[in-house]
Amino acid sequence: MLDELTTYLPLVAALLALLAGVAIGKAWERYKLRDGRWIDRRRARDSHHYVLGLSFLVANQIDLAIEELSQAARVDADALEIHLILGNIHRERGQVARAIQVHQALLQRPKLTRLEHTYVLLCLGLDFKRGGFVDRAVEAFKEVLRFDAANYYALLNLQKLYEEQHQWVEARRVREQLVTLTGPESPARSQAILAFIENAIGVDALKAGDTALAARSFSQAVDLEPSTSPAYLNLGDVRLAGGDAAGAAQAWERMIETRPDRAYLVFERLERFYTDAGTPERFAERCRRLIAANAQDWRARLALGRHLARAGRSAEALDVLLDALAHNPHGLSVHQAIWQALLDLGLDRALVERYIAQAKDAVFYLDPHVCLNCHYRSTELLWQCPHCHEWNTFVEERLAPKKDSVEL
Ligand SMILES: [Zn+2]
Repeated sequence: MLDELTTYLPLVAALLALLAGVAIGKAWERYKLRDGRWIDRRRARDSHHYVLGLSFLVANQIDLAIEELSQAARVDADALEIHLILGNIHRERGQVARAIQVHQALLQRPKLTRLEHTYVLLCLGLDFKRGGFVDRAVEAFKEVLRFDAANYYALLNLQKLYEEQHQWVEARRVREQLVTLTGPESPARSQAILAFIENAIGVDALKAGDTALAARSFSQAVDLEPSTSPAYLNLGDVRLAGGDAAGAAQAWERMIETRPDRAYLVFERLERFYTDAGTPERFAERCRRLIAANAQDWRARLALGRHLARAGRSAEALDVLLDALAHNPHGLSVHQAIWQALLDLGLDRALVERYIAQAKDAVFYLDPHVCLNCHYRSTELLWQCPHCHEWNTFVEERLAPKKDSVEL
């Protein structure tokens, strides 16, 4: 019997994790270690309905799982764990009202331990969140925190709720607590999220016309995490609007140093700055340094090509642009720049033929980005995913040039 128990313990932990979200599962494990007896599972375990129910869950046969677990719950009406799981299943199936009903009924039980109370509340908070009852979800998670001030999952969900409401200051306060705790996110990731929230506070301040607060928030964001690209962009824009063009360029240059793969975000700004400053060659140098550091960088080639074309150096521009095309044959913007350069060169037949030969396998697409977390696609780089609400998860999605796979 004892052996059997030991065998099933990890399974139960895993299932709880599955149902209540990995979050709760992990915390539950932690608490289990702290006091192993927060529920007496023995009687429920004696029921074959329980084991069958869990097996059906693993096999994703949810209806059968519910049936067996409900039977097990009848055998041992006190088994909190089973009811908790049943409620979570209802929630995950979208039956939020039933989930709330089950979890609220558990909350009415007279002899809940502090820990049990905390976890029922957490599940209830997740029910409310899932059902879109924002205020009640916030209340539930705050209540969890009154029982357990360092409850990672309550804090995490609270932060997400505040973010969804664009209550950035509240979201920051919660994330500041999370940064000090150990959880599924690495400390570096946690800090990076804090920086993005700080940047969002700056954006809001800017909208409200408070440029001083905006500038402070953007600076704070890059101090928290030097690779927070949008904060450099915004910091530069604020400085420029305040008449400090050199300071603006400095922020943008720093962005390139921390994230050269995102340098293209500041190309237009830097090109304008260096041109206005009477030193346009510094922009060309900037692009060349990026290309030297990363031979794949088609965006720096595109920027350099356009820059040269604008300066009337169309032949040089075309060379650079055809080079960009070799590294990204599907980028519509590269083709468009080449068409312009070819026109500027009077549609020289040999050059047009050179382009056509290189472009014949191209498939056009706009500028696609994809969320690494949930695979949401966007035609532009987004800092927070509109689908899974994660921060800084978008990468450029690029089809490999055909010759890379054939010749190399
Ligand atoms: Zn996403």
